[in-house]
Amino acid sequence: SLPASGKRLVILGAGESGIGAALLGKQQGYEIFVSDGGAIKDLYKQELAVNNIPFEEGHHSWDIVLDAAEIVKSPGIPEKTELMKKVREKQIPVISEIELAYRFSKDKKIIAITGSNGKSTTTALTYHIFKTAGLNVAMVGNIGVSYAKQVATAPADYYVIEISSFQLDDIKEFKPNVAILLNITPDHLDRYEYKMENYVASKFRIAMNQTAEDYFIYCKDDPEIMKHLEQQPIFSTTIPFTIMEPLKAGGFIANDQVNIQVNEEPVIMSIYDLALKGKHNLYNSMAAGIAGRTMDIRKEKIRESLASFKSLEHRMEYVATVRGVDFINDSKATNVNSVWFALESMERPVVLIMGGVDKGNDYGAIRELVKEKVKAIVCLGVDNSPIQEALSKDTPAMVNTGSMEEAVQAAFQLATKGDVVLLSPACASFDLFKNYEDRGRQFKETVKEL
Ligand code: ADP
Repeated sequence: SLPASGKRLVILGAGESGIGAALLGKQQGYEIFVSDGGAIKDLYKQELAVNNIPFEEGHHSWDIVLDAAEIVKSPGIPEKTELMKKVREKQIPVISEIELAYRFSKDKKIIAITGSNGKSTTTALTYHIFKTAGLNVAMVGNIGVSYAKQVATAPADYYVIEISSFQLDDIKEFKPNVAILLNITPDHLDRYEYKMENYVASKFRIAMNQTAEDYFIYCKDDPEIMKHLEQQPIFSTTIPFTIMEPLKAGGFIANDQVNIQVNEEPVIMSIYDLALKGKHNLYNSMAAGIAGRTMDIRKEKIRESLASFKSLEHRMEYVATVRGVDFINDSKATNVNSVWFALESMERPVVLIMGGVDKGNDYGAIRELVKEKVKAIVCLGVDNSPIQEALSKDTPAMVNTGSMEEAVQAAFQLATKGDVVLLSPACASFDLFKNYEDRGRQFKETVKEL
């Protein structure tokens, strides 16, 4: 690795990943300065202080930032800020926290997971498989501790990393042994000049440094992925998964059985034994199982793990049954595609609670499922007009609410025995809630008071 000592490394943005980068950089002998344009959480400030790492908050000192030998940029800082423009003009190398962490864990096995939806679920499931197999594995990235912090404080032999496309924008040498690309649907297009091809290209960066000894596991049913693979072949060993047709190699479904055919040892199990339900989770389960097989985890361990996994909070999470009505918390569904999969998996009439901050959603994608399965929509947000305009003709009833309390009450009244009340908002939560976790917890608490 680089002669780190004395190198001036500026960390822009002091969130979980920035703090991780600062700790790792310090440990590796860099001279560190942390700069955050907003407020830094107290807990993080303490961590910096304890480690003698200088920092500033509320502004960026341009002279210090522009004097860096290298910059670690938080994925939250857009390129279009004046400071970033200047940084690029001066051609200061900019990397992401992922890249820094990789620099100091190249000799470890890395399983990196990205996609528009299903990242956290697949990351947690993959981790569960590796853990069940008895390997020394850490789960890092968006889902918990940052990769850099883990490398600095508790190094492991295997890293299962959840990566967003923003974090892939500033990688240079990052080369996962196994990359999983789950799907690509429009989200965050505002960050990619509203060009789908930019967003697709950024997701494919996960494989850009891979060679034939590395694996690229991808969803064959995703048109954007397939289009890109046809136009720009990659150098990894590719393994597809699909729910549409049997394959010779890869993951597929046949006769209600999941088949994972990688290397000699096939994993075969009934789809009814999978811990995670719904069509989208067939994909997630196959992707995680294939990753396990590429690292030679035995088929029994993979079957056992796919059957025993406990689903994550706020993702199609069963909450309670009240007078015959099931309540499901899918607060993490912050885009239309997630709601599509949530509705697709429903087998009973649905009262759907949705709404929040609309990122330019196209609700057309769920229109057919709404017509078929949704008996009422309860809009929950400060501005519910986009949903009303898009879907009011497609469902028998629609009501407007402005708090979780009101929304749950309204949904409960509209539901009858045998129905499902589903919170699957399709929107961000920042109008009425701190974040999607807060929204999901308020939902659960309100349901429990019914
Ligand atoms: P991410 O971390 O990518 O946001 P999560 O695993 O937290 O994804 O799941 C978010 C939502 O996306 C879930 O509520 C679920 O309904 C939906 N979802 C999960 N997996 C998939 C998939 N493979 N394809 C489409 N939607 C999915």
